[in-house]
Amino acid sequence: MTPEEFAGSDTRRIVRGPLQQASVLIIAGLDPSGGAGLLADAHVVSQHGFHVAGTCTAVTEQDSVMCSWMHPTDPSMVSNQIARLIDDFEIRGVKIGMLANQEMAAAVGRSLKRLADNKVPIVVDPVLRATRGIPLLEGNAKQALMPLLSIATVITPNLDELAALTADHVAHDADSMRQQARRLKQFGPRAVLAKGGHLEEGSSDIVDVLVDDDGDTAIRGHRIEGVTPHGTGCALSSEIACRLAFGAPLREAVIGACNRVRLRIAEARAVGRGRPFLGL
Ligand code: PLP
Repeated sequence: MTPEEFAGSDTRRIVRGPLQQASVLIIAGLDPSGGAGLLADAHVVSQHGFHVAGTCTAVTEQDSVMCSWMHPTDPSMVSNQIARLIDDFEIRGVKIGMLANQEMAAAVGRSLKRLADNKVPIVVDPVLRATRGIPLLEGNAKQALMPLLSIATVITPNLDELAALTADHVAHDADSMRQQARRLKQFGPRAVLAKGGHLEEGSSDIVDVLVDDDGDTAIRGHRIEGVTPHGTGCALSSEIACRLAFGAPLREAVIGACNRVRLRIAEARAVGRGRPFLGL
């Protein structure tokens, strides 16, 4: 059977039934070290008991020390893969990570329209660059990510990403972070989770700010001194996507995800010679 004949056949319908397992779809880059990207996201999704479906927007050259290169994949391949999965699976949530370039972001935005119209939660981690290494999105971030802002349930920028998306300076306190998050929300996402991990680095507390239709919520936690694991942003956005996929209210999903990732940071472990990875 050729792929075309298979795509046109009815076999996929036959396996649909009451026992069908729900899926969470990951759209992200491949970090072969497994600390970030698709592999790290897949770990979170399977911990939550969902089937993991995933499409790869770029392959990176990286280890635990640094990310040195990216090879974007073909946006039309990614679109076709997403279309097939939406047609075939019961997708309850989507996590979008690294997109590599504007063409890929546009293709992903178009491909997810049907899920967005059906109110499937979509979490966007607006990945701009590796903490140690190269940019992971080419060109103007705001322009590239605009098609995704209007379909996002939650977008999870760190301080640099927030500054790039609002064309502003990097927030230096919780108040300017909150104001930028409110401005970003006006572009369409239902909620913005601004991650303040790099704010007041000398302080023993961390504050993340969630801005949604009900106002602002500060989510506070203790800074875990000296530990900056690889892939925390990826894990956090996947956690939120899974909790929303279970039907948790937005605020509960975000707070639960922040707490879970903080526990995983506290249990970070060395896998290679570079930064530690999150604990299990
Ligand atoms: N590689 C991929 C594929 C990613 O998606 C990300 C972050 O989202 C990174 C690398 C960088 O992760 P970190 O900045 O935590 O090192």
